[in-house]
Amino acid sequence: MSVTQQQVQDALARVASPRGVALTNANVLSAITVTDGKVFFSINVDAAEARAWESVRAQAEAAVRAIPGVTVAMIALTAERKAGAAAPPPPPQPHRHAHGVQPVAAHKPPQSPSSPMSRQSEIPGVAAVIAVASGKGGVGKSTTALNLALGLRDLGLRVGLLDADIYGPSVPRLTGIHEKPQLDDNRKMIPIPRFGLAIMSIGFLVEEDTAMIWRGPMVMSAITQMLRDVAWGTLDVLVVDMPPGTGDAQLTLAQNVPLKGAVIVSTPQDLSLIDARRGLAMFKKVNVPVLGIVENMSYFQCPHCGTRSDIFGHGGARHEAERLGVPFLGEIPLHMSIRTTSDSGNPVVASEPDGPHAAIYRAIGTKVRDQLQGVIAAA
Ligand code: ADP
Repeated sequence: MSVTQQQVQDALARVASPRGVALTNANVLSAITVTDGKVFFSINVDAAEARAWESVRAQAEAAVRAIPGVTVAMIALTAERKAGAAAPPPPPQPHRHAHGVQPVAAHKPPQSPSSPMSRQSEIPGVAAVIAVASGKGGVGKSTTALNLALGLRDLGLRVGLLDADIYGPSVPRLTGIHEKPQLDDNRKMIPIPRFGLAIMSIGFLVEEDTAMIWRGPMVMSAITQMLRDVAWGTLDVLVVDMPPGTGDAQLTLAQNVPLKGAVIVSTPQDLSLIDARRGLAMFKKVNVPVLGIVENMSYFQCPHCGTRSDIFGHGGARHEAERLGVPFLGEIPLHMSIRTTSDSGNPVVASEPDGPHAAIYRAIGTKVRDQLQGVIAAA
């Protein structure tokens, strides 16, 4: 039985706002997406009233889930500060060392404890959430995120991968996963186990073109719920494949996801490095430590003879990292087998574990793991 918009509207009309009007008349609902039994929307309220709205969000979610045929309901509360409202005092600045890099163990995520919208709370069972980001699309961010997750797995860590690239989720293609996640007894989505990773992607839930039309608060709503309404189990590291770019959606995400650090992927071309610099600035702004820069498609390696050609004037990212005082994590060549394995759903670290590329991703994983050691050990 297919669920209709009208059924969702009818269910929400029976939920009252804190002031007693029907939710559908309270002027707080985003567009409602209903796809194949899955319902997504957000409730956008003023930050000052957010606490009072939390139970309304829960009631709305329960009402939508009670509709026959609804398999997933993702409903998030998003808060906006009204123009002119007093801003909260800035969070205390964590200590920075001389080069401007924050040691992870000393890092405290920016939180405003008084804010009911403090979505920075940790995810139970997950020791460290890290972002893989890029200043622009097409630099190999998703390929790097997946192979880095596998590299961390090879170091004996329990690893999850969340594909939060809501504008173009590529993890279904990179992993060959096309099934839909099931729900557990608590109605949380069970991530798909593959290659020893716990994997979740917005692409498992909606068709690619549906994901493409999501905008603004919906992006954050969906990602928050993907983090919190998924039964991740016990993980040492959850790798989040971020949407490319450094716009408002990415900034909000970086602010709202309880990140222990970020890895920035760049190609050697200058343009991409400029974009990477914007990525660095974005994470610094929200006090997320940058774990380092990866230079992808660093040099061309001939698939036949193995000869290396520095066709892009390689080394730019390493210099840039040194200049900016952030760690340089490694260089990944532009190689046919990285592309073919990625695009056939069989990432190179899983399909050629003894090859040179897997070794590079493991070395990058080691540098990332070393920086997270304190957090993982504490958990
Ligand atoms: P992004 O997430 O930045 O948009 P993807 O990871 O989807 O980028 O990669 C874009 C394309 O580049 C894919 O076809 C992928 O297989 C290919 N690719 C990524 N990294 C490499 C590499 N090091 N060598 C060869 N091809 C690569």
